[in-house]
Amino acid sequence: MANRLKVIVDRQKCVGSGECVFTAPEIFDQDEADGIVMLLTDTPEAALWDAAHRAARQCPANAIRVEEG
Ligand code: SF4
Repeated sequence: MANRLKVIVDRQKCVGSGECVFTAPEIFDQDEADGIVMLLTDTPEAALWDAAHRAARQCPANAIRVEEG
């Protein structure tokens, strides 16, 4: 079991679709001006890891990466 999960977003790739915010609102938000993803935390607590993985899988732009360490 990993003891840390790191979330990385690529704001250049993000197309502002918002799935990540819907899936994991504790981790992701969108910029009010352009809709591009913003990270609320890059090391979410363990209870949010499943949601982080789901968000990474669902992102249509492949802009979210999660690394366990
Ligand atoms: S799901 Fe992907 S493309 Fe959509 S807002 Fe989140 S990071 Fe951006």
